[in-house]
Amino acid sequence: MDEEVKLLDDAFARFLEQEIAPGYEDWVEAGCVTKEAWKKTGEGGFLCPAIPEEYGGVGGTFAHEAAIMHRLGVDGFDHFGIALHSGIVAPYILHYGSEDQKKRWLPGLVSGDLIGAIAMTEPGAGSDLQGIKTTAVKDGNHYVINGSKTFITNGQLANLIVVVAKTDPKEGAKGTSLFVVETEEVEGFRRGRNLDKIGLKGNDTSELFFDNVRVPADALLGQDEGKGFYQLMEQLPQERLIVTIQAMAAIERALTVTLDYVKERKAFGKAVIDFQNTQFKLAELKTEATIGRVFVNDCIAKHLEGGLDTVTASMAKYWTTDLQCKVMDECLQLHGGYGYMNEYPIARLYADARVQRIYAGTNEIMKVLIARSL
Ligand SMILES: Cc1cc2nc3c(=O)[nH]c(=O)nc-3n(C[C@H](O)[C@H](O)[C@H](O)COP(=O)(O)OP(=O)(O)OC[C@H]3O[C@@H](n4cnc5c(N)ncnc54)[C@H](O)[C@@H]3O)c2cc1C
Repeated sequence: MDEEVKLLDDAFARFLEQEIAPGYEDWVEAGCVTKEAWKKTGEGGFLCPAIPEEYGGVGGTFAHEAAIMHRLGVDGFDHFGIALHSGIVAPYILHYGSEDQKKRWLPGLVSGDLIGAIAMTEPGAGSDLQGIKTTAVKDGNHYVINGSKTFITNGQLANLIVVVAKTDPKEGAKGTSLFVVETEEVEGFRRGRNLDKIGLKGNDTSELFFDNVRVPADALLGQDEGKGFYQLMEQLPQERLIVTIQAMAAIERALTVTLDYVKERKAFGKAVIDFQNTQFKLAELKTEATIGRVFVNDCIAKHLEGGLDTVTASMAKYWTTDLQCKVMDECLQLHGGYGYMNEYPIARLYADARVQRIYAGTNEIMKVLIARSL
């Protein structure tokens, strides 16, 4: 957190309070962010801060992205799927796009005119990504995409979707490619249900259908077919680091709201904080949160130097999200019955936490990856 990142963090905190807070509960009610919010956030300069100036960004680093993600979590606005848009979708284009592709798509992602999503998961393939069935078949100057995707974050609003498809269905990893689909430019693309989740209610998670969707040949990300799986693998450490940053921010928020609560709430003539059990629980959680913070900061520092490996990112993702769920459970317990009521922030934090162990690679898959390094 240098001076420049601190300024961004302060400005973003003010922006959230003034521009996002007033409509946030409406998103939770409606199950979706609004297009206007994306646009406003882009105009404020808070989308894709790591994108270089020649493509419309401010030329920051992952530290700028991390500050934005952390602030969303600490201030309780983490249903807004900015992290995926800025930290996952835009980097695919920045790292693998041709000059033309970068000029075509990145400025729109920075301004919020384009809303990004990534469509990997299918009804029959999640962890086992090589098992996807969506195909992209070359037809002259076009590819024709067929298949269905599910659990896609930002799916209801996204108009720029990175789609994982098989260009050679006989091959596993080597037959996989990434396509950038501009949904407003094509026919045969359809959005399905906005799925009903137990948490993260303000952000949609959707089904998407591709029925003979013809995209120009230059929708293929990068120059060559068959590179998709390797591109995905290369970007996964950042995706996992993002989840750990979100986990640590949520933990920080949970400890703050819980401390406030136990200082106020009275039982047996004293504040709940005065019971030794409460003090010991919070002492343990604060210790573990500190361990997590040191680990995650180290991962961020390594990532800024280009040295965060898959195994370390997997350790951080699994450990911090397990910790997040534990912290939420203990903090909810300290709220008693009020913790189970949706009007208390800890109830939402508890429900939101659960998915963190599932997406961006389940925690079991993280352990498979770590175990391979033993
Ligand atoms: C809210 C939400 C948002 C999401 N957003 C996106 C998105 O934007 N884009 C996208 O593409 N996907 C997204 N996903 C999908 C997510 O990445 C997948 O759900 C996840 O990868 C797990 O896949 P699956 O659900 O098919 O579970 P499965 O792969 O069927 O796993 C079922 C169980 O088996 C275990 N398992 C599987 N393989 C192994 C193994 N080798 N060893 C041990 N255990 C194993 C898993 O850990 C899990 O416990 C999202 C999911 C959710 C819930």
